[in-house]
Amino acid sequence: MTAQLRSDLDTIPAYVPGRSVPGAIKLASNESPGGPLPGVVEAIADAAGGVGRYPDNAAAGLTRAIADSIGVPEANVVAGCGSVALCQQLVQITCSAGDEVIFSWRSFEAYPVVTRVAGAIPVPVPNTAAHEHDLTAMAAAVGERTRLIFLCTPNNPTGTVISAADIGTFLDNVPEHVLVVVDEAYFEFGDHDDPNRADGVRLALERPNVIALRTFSKAYALAGVRVGFAVGRSPVILALRKVSIPFSVNTVAQAAAIAALEARDVMSERVATVVSERERVVGVLRDAGYAVPSSQGNFVWLPLGERTAQFTSDAADDGLIVRGYGTDGVRVTIGHAHENDALIAFARRWLGESAAEA
Ligand SMILES: *Cc1c(COP(=O)(O)O)cnc(C)c1O
Repeated sequence: MTAQLRSDLDTIPAYVPGRSVPGAIKLASNESPGGPLPGVVEAIADAAGGVGRYPDNAAAGLTRAIADSIGVPEANVVAGCGSVALCQQLVQITCSAGDEVIFSWRSFEAYPVVTRVAGAIPVPVPNTAAHEHDLTAMAAAVGERTRLIFLCTPNNPTGTVISAADIGTFLDNVPEHVLVVVDEAYFEFGDHDDPNRADGVRLALERPNVIALRTFSKAYALAGVRVGFAVGRSPVILALRKVSIPFSVNTVAQAAAIAALEARDVMSERVATVVSERERVVGVLRDAGYAVPSSQGNFVWLPLGERTAQFTSDAADDGLIVRGYGTDGVRVTIGHAHENDALIAFARRWLGESAAEA
């Protein structure tokens, strides 16, 4: 006899990680090209000697370093085992069975999964035709059972952002007992000179029902060690600490993230390179005939609809691993220039061939 498991788990899709094929160019998981920042591997090696002991459960050194780096008090910061763990914790601290979680769709794949795992109900709100959050529809979707709303800016996988003005209006329209998450996993890749750019961290300090999420996985090139963090008012931060799996930010991860923060200048240089490559790729793909929306992430979105699966599998045959999403589109991560060149060459050829077939 097999153990009796929760029957509703059958309705939860298993997480589909980006494909990895030996020898192929992988542009499927929004990782940063270039590997760990200077000093990170050495810090990991040093920390390895200490792994016979439990980590610091409060991750005090890391929390201080994060707080300093973004100019907020330590009490407003909590680290997690990747920001995806914090997404799960946010559902845990707000939802009981049957409560509702609103998010834009398409957006980050983990939102519906962490919602269902907690026994809560996902309320996806379709993106606008411009691949942006439909904030009016999202505010209108708030009901009696709404406990949590995820905003993702820049949005994974479409790359679009929510402006400061639009977030402000949205927050004014949402009741204060509903917690609003501003997921800024790609914050560093955004336009720092845009006066209308939203800053979730500032919002989280100003408004008691806002929490910001950032991560070391993308710009800081630490996807493999799993560190993210949340910024918010202390009642929410304390609740997040309560539901965290004990010691889930391990010793090596804490040391690696501290070292990565010390190498912020190099991070910024690398991010600038990715951003300029992103603008080049967007320009070329638009010229080739793709309807690519402007992106503020380290990836671009090709809204290919029914042709999504074809593009994804033809790309794989060509040694390019990209991420297809059902019949919505394809997300391509910005890599090194030569990798982006390979993507561009493939994408041009593919459009020519599929036009010829049509
Ligand atoms: C990558 C990503 C995260 C999570 O990253 P972690 O590796 O868990 O820190 C969170 N939100 C979005 C939108 C992402 O794309």
